[in-house]
Amino acid sequence: MKAPAKSSGLSSPAVSTPEARAVADPGREPGERDRLDLFALLAEHEHEQVSLYYDPSTGYRGIIAIHSTVLGPALGGTRFWSYPSDEAALIDCLRLARGMTYKAAVAGLNLGGGKSVIIGDNSTARREALFRAHGRHVESLKGRYITAEDVGTSTSDMEYIKAETNHVTGLIGRSGDPSPVTAYGVYRGIKACARYRYDSDSLAGKAVALQGCGSVGYHLAKLLFAEGADITCTDIDPRRVKRVVEECGAKAVASDAIYDVRANIFAPCALGAVLNDDTVQRLQVEIVAGAANNQLAEDRHGDLLERRGITYAPDYVINGGGLINVNAELHGWAPERARSKAGEIYDTLLRVFEIAREERVPSYQAADRLAEQRIASIAQVRRNFV
Ligand code: NAD
Repeated sequence: MKAPAKSSGLSSPAVSTPEARAVADPGREPGERDRLDLFALLAEHEHEQVSLYYDPSTGYRGIIAIHSTVLGPALGGTRFWSYPSDEAALIDCLRLARGMTYKAAVAGLNLGGGKSVIIGDNSTARREALFRAHGRHVESLKGRYITAEDVGTSTSDMEYIKAETNHVTGLIGRSGDPSPVTAYGVYRGIKACARYRYDSDSLAGKAVALQGCGSVGYHLAKLLFAEGADITCTDIDPRRVKRVVEECGAKAVASDAIYDVRANIFAPCALGAVLNDDTVQRLQVEIVAGAANNQLAEDRHGDLLERRGITYAPDYVINGGGLINVNAELHGWAPERARSKAGEIYDTLLRVFEIAREERVPSYQAADRLAEQRIASIAQVRRNFV
């Protein structure tokens, strides 16, 4: 069985679990013996290591997947989820770990890609012993893997992990809400798309259809408004829409109507899988660039955008500010340094578009190539003993 295509997020709730469900029953005949080709799964995307840990006293069942440590320690959040099978959990973990390798590589960070999952009911109140067991699991890898929050976990869970290991980020009172840095990176990414598309990166007078006025969407709206963009927004939470309407002079539309707005730019900042068979046909924009993780329902929707002549900013490139913020916490960077690093997403995206043009591939594939180029070149430099 194949590990499905990579995902992008340090926090990417949107697609993981349904996909994980889809692999729960891989077409086995009744009575057929379970067979998991573990090393074939690892070999498929060259994962370095998988660690399994069981703690009978708490019932902790955890998996840590390390995809690559070529660039640095593997970083990725801990997902706590009630998977339909151990196999589904493993495949989700492998897929998400690989996504982290690519995200860190294009963000120019000295981090590799990893992920962990805890199998179980994430609403449990008995968290301390469970997360300390997870902390011991993380510690056993001696820094090859660094964890953080993800779906089903919180900053207070990270504090329990911290009692057992230093290889954890996203602690209470540390780097804080990543959304302003993420939004700034997305804003710079949108400007790069405008530069590529219109030969000028000014967003003055450009019409932006904004989906999601949450943490990132709100900060992004403020930056767009300050530059003179004309915003149409939507959210399922009317209070969030109201704030963007009042503070950024935006026009509001119903949530499904956002795909039909005639605009220059569509900025998805809510959910994953919003670029699908239905929506890609409806879009009346020249650029898609937003913060949401896993925007393409399937890779082929990236091809479809390309065929429609829509410039697509690959999600894991443009939303790298969240990971940059975590990296800032790890290395004690000042907030200005994190912001400035997120600003480099501008140049990275222009490079992605250049690769796409030179190699005649859609931008989502060009982003993968850029990540792979960086990893391969650093692997070369580090090949000898020093
Ligand atoms: P958030 O929960 O604060 O905001 C999401 C908003 O989307 C909410 O206001 C919600 O009501 C709205 N929403 C949900 N369903 C909707 C729908 N059908 N139509 C319109 N609006 C809808 O989350 P966030 O932190 O702003 O993150 C937004 C996206 O960006 C997510 O996909 C997240 O994974 C991704 N992301 C966020 C960060 C970060 O730093 N926060 C970093 C990288 C990626």
